[in-house]
Formats: sequence, structure tokens, C-alpha cells
Amino acid sequence: MAPTMKDIVLVGAGLAHANTLRAICKSVHDHARLTVVTRHPRTPYSAMLPGLMAGIYSSDDIHIDVAALCRFAGAKLVVGEVSGIDLDARRVFCEGRDPIPFDILSIDTGSTPNTHDVPGAGAHAVAIKPVDKFLAGFEAARARLLQRGAAKFVVVGGGASGVELICTMERVLRADLQREGRDPAAVTFTLLTRKAAILDMFSRGLGARFEKILAARGIEVITGKNARRVEANAVITDCAAVVPYDELFWTVEASAASWLGDTGLALDERGFIEVQPTMESTSHADVFAAGDVASFIGRTVPKAGIYAVRQSVVLAENLRAAAERAPLKPFIPQKHYLQLITAGEHYAVGARGGLSFEGRWVWHLKVRIDRGFVAGFKKLAPMAEMVKSA
Ligand SMILES: Cc1cc2nc3c(=O)[nH]c(=O)nc-3n(C[C@H](O)[C@H](O)[C@H](O)COP(=O)(O)OP(=O)(O)OC[C@H]3O[C@@H](n4cnc5c(N)ncnc54)[C@H](O)[C@@H]3O)c2cc1C
Repeated sequence: MAPTMKDIVLVGAGLAHANTLRAICKSVHDHARLTVVTRHPRTPYSAMLPGLMAGIYSSDDIHIDVAALCRFAGAKLVVGEVSGIDLDARRVFCEGRDPIPFDILSIDTGSTPNTHDVPGAGAHAVAIKPVDKFLAGFEAARARLLQRGAAKFVVVGGGASGVELICTMERVLRADLQREGRDPAAVTFTLLTRKAAILDMFSRGLGARFEKILAARGIEVITGKNARRVEANAVITDCAAVVPYDELFWTVEASAASWLGDTGLALDERGFIEVQPTMESTSHADVFAAGDVASFIGRTVPKAGIYAVRQSVVLAENLRAAAERAPLKPFIPQKHYLQLITAGEHYAVGARGGLSFEGRWVWHLKVRIDRGFVAGFKKLAPMAEMVKSA
């Protein structure tokens, strides 16, 4: 008797699911139909975002073509915004469409900086994610600066994305003013973090190198102050300090989408989906989560693309195993990884283990790794066309 076909639905096509589609074995189709539901048919590789802002990369360079990947993997693509999941009826709700049934579900909807805990942040600040909205916000701020000739840019959040963002903006916007014959010093930059030091989750050597770079470029760093409220032109901190701004960007710790709270899935204190080492939900069998949205019980897995990609290889095997009712494998995170952070203008700082280093060569190394990663997906596009016409 032929096995019953299962419906595997992948919600969100971030780095984790994009690589799952690449890694999933064709034999999954003996047991299951694959459907991908995601907001956009292209997914950005955020590590290349600073290079796009600086005009080094094109939009095509930094995007993975999810539609081509789906053709390659034999998956049906549904482009739309998921607004909820009924885990009892096993249905995914996608705006403007009929509910999508599933037997096995995997969620990879990423994370966005938390703007809802700080009144006014959602209304006044441009969040670093989603990337398309961020880019529109950045280009609008850039145009306003060129019109007025002066502005105060403030970035809230002293993690890797906040530091990359402010370094890149400083180089790009001062060069803009210089080209227009204006005073490059008329644009000022402030980085505000509630932590005692920037980049506190990285090695001290890496943080110290960035402190020097920021100081040398005249970027003000305010540490140990928590943004409590955002008004039209100022951030108010917990000790009532007022940080004025003309343009405000938000990169603070990531949070998960609020609709996950209505699904009944077990979530951690920040709203991320609690998973076992196999990436299966701690509360619901046959429901998986990967990438930034997954919260592994009992261990800290950094919310970084490199971990999302590593998880995807195990996820691909586990989705197939779930369809075949075979045992699941655990994801074992690596302890150390090569950290490369852009300082803008073809310069980067890196660290691995206790060692840190910087220079133009580090930037070139980062470019090679990042371009190579996206190229791995682009290579599949012609194969996807062959699959389509076969
Ligand atoms: C500026 C910047 C630089 C970074 N640099 C690095 C780096 O150098 N190295 C590194 O390892 N990490 C880096 N990161 C972190 C890295 O980008 C993330 O950890 C990684 O993208 C997480 O991948 P993911 O698969 O969890 O989800 P994401 O890649 O965030 O994708 C989530 C996907 O889900 C879709 N989605 C979300 N909600 C819905 C919904 N309701 N319905 C349908 N679809 C939905 C989105 O459209 C998106 O396609 C950087 C992040 C930023 C912001």
C-alpha cells in the first residue's frame, strides 16, 4: 500500500528555511508535499546589508531567490503574510487566502528589534528589520540630510547590527555631504546602549577595537542608559536623560512576532518558540522552529545567521524523518565561530576564540564569505529551471 502523503508547510523563508530547501533530500517527496509560505519571493542576507547601503552590493547581490529555490526543491510557494496558526485544526492562516492545511509545520519567521516595550519607538524609529522597510527608511533619512545639509543621527542598540549600522551610515552620509560641497561634520552620530559596553556579547578585544574606531570617527557612544520613551525629536532614558535626534534607528535585542503568542505554542520569556535539541516544539509534536525564532531549552544559541544555516541541515533531515516516522536528530551548536563585523568603507573587525584582528583584508575576507554564501543559492537557479521544464 502506498504511504499516506503528508503536508509539510514551511512558514517564513529566512536563512534557515532557504538552506533547508537547498539541503532537503529529494526522497522527501515519496512521503510528503512541501509548501513554503513567506512574505516575499526573495529573502535578504542581512550580513550584506551594510555593503548594500554603501553601494558596494546591488539589491540582487544580497537577495536569495526563494521562488527559484522552491522550484529546485519541488515545493509550492505561497507569497503572503502569515497571521496565525490553529494547531488543533492544523491550519496556517495567511492573509487573503484559504487556510493552508499541514501535518508537519516548521516556523522560520526570524526576529525584529523590540519596539513595542518602549512607547513611541514604533512610531518614530526605523527598525533594522524587516530589511525592505529599513532600507526605505534609511534612504528617506539620507534624502532629508542632503536637503537640509545637517542632521543628528541616533542608533539605539550597541550589538553587532547597531555598530555596523552606525559605522556604515557615518562613512556613507559624510561622503554624500562632501560630494555635494557641504560640511561633512554637519552630520553627527550617537550610539545609545543600555549595556555597560558596546558589543558585550563578543570578545573584549573585538569590542575594544570598535570603541577606538568609533572614537576616531567622532561617533558619540552613550552606555548604561536604557531608552524608556521616544518623543518626536528625543529619546528619553531611564535616568531622564534626553538624547535629541533628527533621524532615529532601532536595533535593540530581537523579539518575536506577537501573533505567535496566540498559537498555544510554548514560548520563552521573549516570545520565541521553545524547542528541543531536535528543533521540535516542546509543546507540540510535528511542529518545528529554526533560526532566530527558535529558543533551545537549556542552552543559549546565538541569534545569528551562521547558526540558522547550521540548524537548517539538521532541520531538513528531521522534516523528512518526521514524514517517515523515523527518529529525529539533535542540533549540536558549535562553540566558536568566526565573527566578522563591518566598520564601513571596506574595513572590518574579526574575532575567533580569544583572538581579534582588523583591516581591509578582514573586509575582503567577509566579502568573499558573504558573496560565496549567496552564490551557492544562485547556482541552483539554472538547475531550478531544468527541474521546472523536465
Ligand atoms: C545588519 C545585520 C547584519 C547581520 N550580520 C550577520 C553576520 O554577519 N553573520 C551572522 O551570522 N548573522 C548576521 N546577522 C543576523 C542574521 O541576519 C539573522 O540571525 C538571520 O537572518 C536569521 O535568519 P532566520 O532564518 O531566523 O530569519 P530571517 O533571515 O530573519 O528571515 C525571516 C523570514 O521570515 C519571513 N517572515 C517573517 N514573518 C512572516 C510572516 N508573518 N509571514 C510570512 N513570512 C514571514 C520574512 O519575510 C523573512 O523572509 C545580521 C543581522 C543584521 C540585522
